[in-house]
Amino acid sequence: MQRLQDRVAVITGAGSGIGLATARRFAEEGAKVVCVDLDEPTGAKAADEVGGLFVRADVTSEDDVVRMYQTAFDTYGSVDIAFNNAGISPPDDDSILETGLDAWRRVQEVNLTSVYLCCKHVIPYMRRQGKGSIVNTASFVAVMGSATSQISYTASKGGVLAMSRELGVQFAREGIRVNALCPGPVNTPLLQELFAKDPERAQRRLVHIPVGRFAEASEIAAAVAFLASDDASFITGAEFLVDGGISGA
Ligand code: NAD
Repeated sequence: MQRLQDRVAVITGAGSGIGLATARRFAEEGAKVVCVDLDEPTGAKAADEVGGLFVRADVTSEDDVVRMYQTAFDTYGSVDIAFNNAGISPPDDDSILETGLDAWRRVQEVNLTSVYLCCKHVIPYMRRQGKGSIVNTASFVAVMGSATSQISYTASKGGVLAMSRELGVQFAREGIRVNALCPGPVNTPLLQELFAKDPERAQRRLVHIPVGRFAEASEIAAAVAFLASDDASFITGAEFLVDGGISGA
């Protein structure tokens, strides 16, 4: 028996990076995977690869979020795992003095409001089942801040962390676990795009990672699979750092 055998898992941002690696890992561990993404070609490709279902949805739209869980439930009969992972990188100059209100609001909407919407609409399914695991993607910057000026991004991830703690505590007695995943820098299109704009930033980051390299998305996916599984049955409301030692350095 595999660890996630027949669990129904909805993954947002499943078309790329951490979400894609997690879709692959969940499928390997026996889950029925619902791949959600705004980008149809990559999301559909991911679903095809893992033998799952693709739902095109914008996680900032409440209607879309409601529809994606309804589709998962109608197709597979339960929603056991929610990996709320879709997110965007900071705008170009994301210092407190430069970031405009529109850019700030956009980052909060995609990175934080989306997690609120996903939790709000998946918890009723899990409550009825008396069981469920939610993993929300925050970031190591939520724990320790960032010297590279990304105020809107860091604030959004801090919100994800705080919300996960609160929900973890609130729903613990109902068998619903909620944890915040806090990855360090991961070699994904999101990071590559950021570093392409500012190559020095990559070097500055690298220096501060004790293991001396960026993570591969598969290494983050392994942690998500653990948190989603019953192996993590006593872990809830936690900030789960997978950061190559950055936060301890
Ligand atoms: P990525 O850009 O490779 O993948 C993000 C996916 O989310 C894409 O497929 C994109 O189409 C999708 N997406 C974006 N907006 C969406 C929306 N409104 N609705 C639905 N889907 C949407 O990024 P990644 O590096 O895999 O990042 C995944 C998560 O991990 C993000 O929340 C990111 O902030 C977080 N994170 C990344 C790193 C890193 O270094 N890569 C570190 C810490 C945290």
